[in-house]
Amino acid sequence: MGLPKGTTERLRKIAGEKGVLTSPVDLLTYSYDGTTNWEAKPEVVVFPTTTDQVSEIMKLATQDVIPVTVRGAGTNVSGGSIPVLGGIVLCTTRMNRIIAINAANFSATAEVGVVLHDLNQELVKHRLFFPPDPQSFLAATLGGCVSENAGGPYAVKYGVFKHYLLGMRTVLPSGTIIDLGGKTMKNVTGYDLPQLICGSEGTLAVITQVTLRLLPLPQAHQTVLAVFDNVVTAGETVQRIFASGIMPAKIELMDNWLIQRIEEVTPLGLPLTAEAILLFELDGMSEAVKKETEGVVDCCKKTGAIDVRPARDANEAENFWTARRAGFSAIFGNAPTVLAEDVTVPINRIPELIGRIRRCARTYNLTIVIIGHAGDGNLHPAILTNRKDPAHYARAEKALDDIFAAALDLGGVLSGEHGIGLEKKRFLKQALPAEAIELLKEIKKVFDPKGILNPGKIW
Ligand SMILES: Cc1cc2nc3c(=O)[nH]c(=O)nc-3n(C[C@H](O)[C@H](O)[C@H](O)COP(=O)(O)OP(=O)(O)OC[C@H]3O[C@@H](n4cnc5c(N)ncnc54)[C@H](O)[C@@H]3O)c2cc1C
Repeated sequence: MGLPKGTTERLRKIAGEKGVLTSPVDLLTYSYDGTTNWEAKPEVVVFPTTTDQVSEIMKLATQDVIPVTVRGAGTNVSGGSIPVLGGIVLCTTRMNRIIAINAANFSATAEVGVVLHDLNQELVKHRLFFPPDPQSFLAATLGGCVSENAGGPYAVKYGVFKHYLLGMRTVLPSGTIIDLGGKTMKNVTGYDLPQLICGSEGTLAVITQVTLRLLPLPQAHQTVLAVFDNVVTAGETVQRIFASGIMPAKIELMDNWLIQRIEEVTPLGLPLTAEAILLFELDGMSEAVKKETEGVVDCCKKTGAIDVRPARDANEAENFWTARRAGFSAIFGNAPTVLAEDVTVPINRIPELIGRIRRCARTYNLTIVIIGHAGDGNLHPAILTNRKDPAHYARAEKALDDIFAAALDLGGVLSGEHGIGLEKKRFLKQALPAEAIELLKEIKKVFDPKGILNPGKIW
């Protein structure tokens, strides 16, 4: 679109000389996110360091009607931080101070550019625990996680970001700064605006600071790896474990394709013919963890696991979890384009969803890898394809349509944690009533009447 004359100079006055990037290489860098099929260059990238600077940037953008796309670490996998209409990318990575850890109130306040892992490193020193754990935690920022309402393996027992969001400082597109929510666990004071902004994918307001609820660090942890020769049996095992009264902190599922990659990258001696792995973590008081571990091992054996291995120590447990993360990363290294989805179904429908995804792979002659958070119904079928091979990509898109249709058919949703962004907006009409989409649009207008904040996303 081209920026109004003088915009870059005005941004430099706000964020400083080093806080503004305009070189072609820099603009290219900020034209991507964690997806492999979307890119669009901004005209300028700005790195504010304070809420006041964010407010000044938004006033400028509103005045001249310049699109602003907020970006944390850019790890989202929905096209959420792609500046599809150009304009300004407002990157929060220099707003990275942990402001306060209030151990007595079990809360922490931090700027949004703080990386999740850095927060956790600090919390451990206080024997505190922040459970939501998107597997991009080494890079993902708090602002990005709140905006996507991220969650990870711990969601089974502990929930996702929204369950820990107490308050936030926000800047509206007009530049107005507002503090929302507070520091208390309970708060029913008018509409719950922090919860509305949480998961809004950067379309309503720029979040600059968040206050999060914390938990005491569990006394003990135990990881258990179970190998199955049938992926559907693995899905059924999850059901049985819940039915036995055990609530694991994590239950992750990986299929045969991933088992093979794990054995290439971080060998664990897994049988290459195995169809699925379930990886569990139990946590809590030591005695309880011991008993629950016995229960999980017993359940897996009874449902027909071919190998069940409780980790011998913390090192072995870490190896298992590193393998899980490496497996997910390996997906992206194995095809020029990966359509990595995150359909979610009621947990009792997981075996059916797995069956439908596998049928899809056969119908369209595609490799579709299945990894996911089996304990909460959130699977990540990843279709390996190549955007530059039109025939192959067309088949991949058809498979994607079928997978979304299957998830909705089974009473599920389009996205459990990655958001709609650009990736899933063409499916929104199938997933939400027209009246609900209209409401979303009206809410957007109230926050952002000129439509400058992350335009082109969700619908
Ligand atoms: C290897 C890998 C593993 C992953 N695993 C998981 C997982 O297990 N669970 C999960 O939920 N996700 C996962 N993700 C997706 C992604 O990491 C999360 O969505 C994460 O929360 C994004 O954080 P970010 O800082 O990178 O945000 P970005 O990608 O920079 O931004 C995400 C969205 O938030 C908006 N935004 C960012 N900051 C702000 C702000 N301060 N104010 C307003 N809007 C803002 C952006 O405009 C964009 O729409 C994974 C991604 C990768 C690449």
